[in-house]
Amino acid sequence: MLLAGGIAPAAYSSASSVEGGPASRVAASAPRITTVARPLGGKVVVIDPGHQLGNHNFPAKINRLVPAGGFKKPCNTTGTATNGGYPEATLTWRVARNVKRRLERLGATVRMTRHSNRQDRWGPCVDARGRAGNRIPADAKLSIHGDGSTVSGAHGFHVIAPTDRRPWTHDIYRSSKRLAVATRAGLKGERLSVANYIAGGDGLDFRSDLGTLNLSNVPTVMVELGNMRSAVDARRMTSRHGRATYAAGLVAGLRRFLG
Ligand SMILES: [Zn+2]
Repeated sequence: MLLAGGIAPAAYSSASSVEGGPASRVAASAPRITTVARPLGGKVVVIDPGHQLGNHNFPAKINRLVPAGGFKKPCNTTGTATNGGYPEATLTWRVARNVKRRLERLGATVRMTRHSNRQDRWGPCVDARGRAGNRIPADAKLSIHGDGSTVSGAHGFHVIAPTDRRPWTHDIYRSSKRLAVATRAGLKGERLSVANYIAGGDGLDFRSDLGTLNLSNVPTVMVELGNMRSAVDARRMTSRHGRATYAAGLVAGLRRFLG
């Protein structure tokens, strides 16, 4: 279902004007209906909330090898968690839902790669996540994750774009890099700091080993919102306000890219 094509609703046009005729006098005194601002009208965005809450309950299913772009990888992993036990799957689900609401308010059509956050569900696999959006085709695909580094003091976000790997990513690596730069700018605009422990300190990483990126035919990035093992990042991730901050930054990045 997540791969089903969809037609984006047309952007609202302004209310039809009434000119001449007996109705004109009435129309002139009626309140004016102005155009609704829908800056992302007609755009389709795929949001991929990393992992599924129940993955750990289905080891045989999530360890099954699937195509990942010229090699195979396990279908999925369990994801990480904060030291207090707040799961990555729940973080990504809640941030993704917040992003979806904001994008829809701006007129975009949003497709999600999973539709629940439940202990009795698993997947989808990284190949399905990678291909999500190809058939539509989406204008952008954003995969949301949280990192789990045990390096002391490690905190901050980083954005991962695919490297140029023919034939897998040659068509999208340039546009994906633009999306990565835009996403970083959006998150920085919310005063979030780039990772101090990975990605060279500039918040941008390029990887060839991720099926979620390799199998995409539309511009895509994966964002690690922060280090879930960091007390500072965990505090933000476990608060509604903090998750809204991440979502606002991600949407600002998408607006930069799509605008
Ligand atoms: Zn993850």
